[in-house]
Amino acid sequence: MQYYSLQKQSPNVDFRAAAITGQAPDKGLYFPMEIPKFTATQIENFKTLDKASLAFEVMRPYVGGTIDDATLKNICAETINFDFPLVPITDTISSLELFHGPTLAFKDVGARFMSRCLGYFSKQARAENATANDHKSQEDKTQGEKPNTVLVATSGDTGGAVANGFLGVTGVNVIILYPKGKVSPIQELQLTTLGQNITALEVDGSFDDCQAIVKEAFMDGELNAAYNLTSANSINVARWLPQQLYYFFAWQQWVAKYQDSDGIYPPMNIVVPSGNFGNICAGMIAKESGLPLGHFVAACNANDVVTRYMATEKYEVKPSVVTVSNAMDVGNPSNFVRILEMMQNNFSTLSNALTSYSISDNDTKETIARVYKTNNYI
Ligand SMILES: *Cc1c(COP(=O)(O)O)cnc(C)c1O
Repeated sequence: MQYYSLQKQSPNVDFRAAAITGQAPDKGLYFPMEIPKFTATQIENFKTLDKASLAFEVMRPYVGGTIDDATLKNICAETINFDFPLVPITDTISSLELFHGPTLAFKDVGARFMSRCLGYFSKQARAENATANDHKSQEDKTQGEKPNTVLVATSGDTGGAVANGFLGVTGVNVIILYPKGKVSPIQELQLTTLGQNITALEVDGSFDDCQAIVKEAFMDGELNAAYNLTSANSINVARWLPQQLYYFFAWQQWVAKYQDSDGIYPPMNIVVPSGNFGNICAGMIAKESGLPLGHFVAACNANDVVTRYMATEKYEVKPSVVTVSNAMDVGNPSNFVRILEMMQNNFSTLSNALTSYSISDNDTKETIARVYKTNNYI
């Protein structure tokens, strides 16, 4: 499996290179050359496959041989080593709970998978260096042992999941920038108390300021070369792609509950709270690869660039607005270009697959209260 840059100005790379660099040299996002297609027989088997085997089957084509099967099996098993329950709210609506991982953020899955892949690639590089080093000077030897540095800005959820996922991974250092006073006390503890290869830096500013510093660092060739920088947000394929597993796990439970004796079940339409559109884009790729999913709905807050695009066909970026759902306060969602690519940049294909709604903070709060009152669910 090869990945190409959506800017189309960089060479194609394999999964290993895409995961290590995060973004293409032309600043484009990497996208798989061809989306794997599962056969009807495979899909039928997926209905009852255990989670770890299913994760392995789904991720294997994307990893494309850059990690041996035995290692990848282990990585997959560790990544999804907790529950993803589909909990009924009404007769027809269920909630896929993605907060049962170690940091309570759905980003645990992507962070755990990516950290283990980078750990494996780093070990591989050290082994290759050790062999090559037999013929090298001392100076060259230290060069070859340079660790990767994961640099990440967080408004709360990402940092904790990344820190937890990468803790103790040899050959990878993590630097997290977070806005002073703007993450919750638990999140701050998740970021700052781990130590080892995790460094948290408190920035006297907003999340956008943190993000700007990170972007500047990635643009700086000298800094990049000195620290082997990579990103750990959903731009990175190693963090983005494993998120599609949620949809396979949800579908397994949906089928188990609703399938009749003829194997017929109602379509599973999916509403995804969206900010950077990584999660929903992962669900859409699962559908493209043959998982029988229904319609996708992006649930957005006041940051409504996609909602407006779906209504007007005009993509107009605005600065992000602060809301009560701050993990979704994104003005210009990075992953939307991947969705467009998947839909062959065809607007009617896109409209048939995706709807987007934006709601106010008031609606958010009222809905939470109403669902708690009528369905006893938060
Ligand atoms: C990250 C996050 C989102 C947004 O997900 P995207 O993949 O960026 O669209 C929504 N809700 C919560 C709780 C999150 O942590």
